[in-house]
Amino acid sequence: MIVAIDGPAGAGKSSVATELAERLGFRYLDTGAMYRALTWLALRDAVALDDGAALAELARVRPVVFGLGREVSIDGVDVTAEIREPEIDAAVPVVASHPDVRAVMRGRQRQLGRRGNVVIEGRDIGVVVVPEAEVKVWLIADPAVRASRRQAERAGLEAEHLAEELRRRDERDAVNTHRAADAVEVDTTELDLHEVVDRIAVLVEAAR
Ligand code: C5P
Repeated sequence: MIVAIDGPAGAGKSSVATELAERLGFRYLDTGAMYRALTWLALRDAVALDDGAALAELARVRPVVFGLGREVSIDGVDVTAEIREPEIDAAVPVVASHPDVRAVMRGRQRQLGRRGNVVIEGRDIGVVVVPEAEVKVWLIADPAVRASRRQAERAGLEAEHLAEELRRRDERDAVNTHRAADAVEVDTTELDLHEVVDRIAVLVEAAR
């Protein structure tokens, strides 16, 4: 079974998807981490961020590899921590905006999602990557709450700065962020993690 969890940054996708996968014994696939790792590699190797063909080729020859935990590697380097830096936050929507890059990522995401039970988080999973997913969730949250959650992850950055960063990223990601018509919307603003996971677990049980 495939559970697709889509929504904007800071809506709680990663925490929810990780916890849900753990609870259900499903695998977890973080598609944002794939775009982040490619962005890290492009910056390291000075590949121009506006060169979609070069970035797609890079994605093709240097696939992102997931470890057993939440480790993410690319070109043999563990980039788990580096891909969460503000420099990557700022550059990743540019890399992810290229259709050629998305085509390579989509193929790989489908391949990784094909085997067994999996929770896949992203922005276009339920519409573009796996429209046949049995359960689709659209996670949202109030912008101020999203910024404050981000602040907990990015110690040292100011809330205002983070709110602005999220707003800018939403704007850039908008064309590739899709809510499926058959997705169930869950607003996480006033729910804690376990309440959100409980709700989705009920949807999964109903779909089994
Ligand atoms: O979810 P996360 O914040 O880690 O995603 C990082 C970036 O990767 C997003 O801002 C977006 O540019 C891109 N992304 C995407 N499609 C996805 C997942 C992420 O374009 N399915």
